[in-house]
Amino acid sequence: MNIVYIYIYICIGIVALWAVFNFYRSRKNKNRVICVVESNCTGCGRCLKRCTRGVLEMQKTETGTFAIAKNPNKCNACGDCLNKCKFNALKLEERTIQMFPSLVFLNY
Ligand code: SF4
Ligand code: SF4
Repeated sequence: MNIVYIYIYICIGIVALWAVFNFYRSRKNKNRVICVVESNCTGCGRCLKRCTRGVLEMQKTETGTFAIAKNPNKCNACGDCLNKCKFNALKLEERTIQMFPSLVFLNY
């Protein structure tokens, strides 16, 4: 078999596995949302760079700078930002109306 075809099959396999993994992850975390533990947050900003959905934002207060979940309804609970935080300041919680009164539940 031509080496090019083998290469193409391997690439297709990797993409398929990646798609299945992401689908499984989105289903598993469907009703979860990111939350910031302000007392642990150092304001380093690493999580903001990782999130491509614009969920997180930095907030400056008199007590310091820390991340906040500015747009929680955009969060698909992918968990990518969790891996970037070295200070255990992010966690995924169950979505509740009480947490986000204006929350719009999305179908992913
Ligand atoms: S990566 Fe962690 S410590 Fe840094 S801003 Fe985000 S939540 Fe805060
Ligand atoms: S879990 Fe994903 S979508 Fe939600 S804030 Fe983190 S990186 Fe963004």
